[in-house]
Amino acid sequence: MKKTIRDIDVSGKRVLVRCDFNVPMQDGKITDDIRITSALPTVKYLIENNAKVILMSHMGRPKGEPKPEFSLKPVADRLSQLLGKEVIFAASDVVVDDKVRETAEELQPGQVMLLENVRYRKEETKNEEPFTGQLAQLGEIFVNDAFGTAHRAHCSTAGLAEYMPSVSGFLIEKEVKFLGDALENPERPFVAIMGGAKVGDKIPVIENLLKKVDSLIVVGGMSYTFFKAMGYEIGTSILDEESIELAKELMEKAKAVGVQLMLPVDTVCAKEFDNSSEKGVFDRDKIPADMMGMDIGPKTIDMYKKVISTAKTVVWNGPAGVFEMPNFAEGTKAIAEALAKSEAVTIIGGGDSAAAVEQFGYADKMTHISTGGGASLEFLEGKELPGISCLEEK
Ligand code: AMP
Repeated sequence: MKKTIRDIDVSGKRVLVRCDFNVPMQDGKITDDIRITSALPTVKYLIENNAKVILMSHMGRPKGEPKPEFSLKPVADRLSQLLGKEVIFAASDVVVDDKVRETAEELQPGQVMLLENVRYRKEETKNEEPFTGQLAQLGEIFVNDAFGTAHRAHCSTAGLAEYMPSVSGFLIEKEVKFLGDALENPERPFVAIMGGAKVGDKIPVIENLLKKVDSLIVVGGMSYTFFKAMGYEIGTSILDEESIELAKELMEKAKAVGVQLMLPVDTVCAKEFDNSSEKGVFDRDKIPADMMGMDIGPKTIDMYKKVISTAKTVVWNGPAGVFEMPNFAEGTKAIAEALAKSEAVTIIGGGDSAAAVEQFGYADKMTHISTGGGASLEFLEGKELPGISCLEEK
């Protein structure tokens, strides 16, 4: 178990906190502030415990250069509103300079400052000096609370741990608790639902989950690679050629370890990748040569709903179809609804499945919605996340 801010004396100390304030922006305005509100428990705890709080984050991909459209100034303003107190914004094109150092030195207990986008510096994503050392000069304790970037070893997510005592914030603690408990100590039956388009990314996750779950449900774009592996024609559906062999191996592995690996039995197909395209429902062995699979079909939805209704733990990552197009969103919606109705512990991997649950209005019915798409996938894959492994053990 990793130490958290509860396990360390923060009073009067300058505490450097890595948050994930990578919020979506449109015309200079934040369109969704969930990542900011998710950081509040940690920030408030530090304020209440008289820490001098120095926040850091990245936003977007400025690629190592100062770019005004990626400035964290709007985040400082929003955070200030949410906290009901001033958040000093340390504007600097190089993130840390003399003025920023001075502001950090002069912080009083309970005060909060936010640094400029750490990705204004090219060293950040390479975890290189002199940036890590410059950040380190500002603080005495490092707190990582950015789950969304915990799978990356960057200056502000892992490098800082070499300089000072390092612990997790409450958001990382919560993510590790829910994802970790599901993997290591799930109430059974434990069902995983894996979907989305990027088959290559998810096959290693399926491989790890096969060691843990009772049933593994495959949905979405990756189904067609499995169909191909089963010898079916898939028309113009999305296919990951390189993963066909691995898909075969996974089906055999599942059999060998007694895990039920479930694939769709029917699929909604379209002529074009377009919401208004002509469509039809076909069994998985009858996909027409000139059509592509866009969603799971009604028989599959019924079959999966039954499995979900008996589960005690469900982890879901990846939509069941092209849910951004209303005509191909039924499968994803049905899964979100089945999870919302279920009594099980329901954990939603970040990214598209989190967006889908939100879009269909079921977010508050889930046990936990992860704030990190890539990070939660790597966690489910059983990989060590550098932004977490660098923190001190209890
Ligand atoms: P991923 O990033 O791998 O989780 O994939 C998410 C994307 O997969 C979403 O944008 C979906 O539109 C897409 N997707 C889901 N099912 C299909 C499908 N049958 N064909 C093409 N794309 C799909």
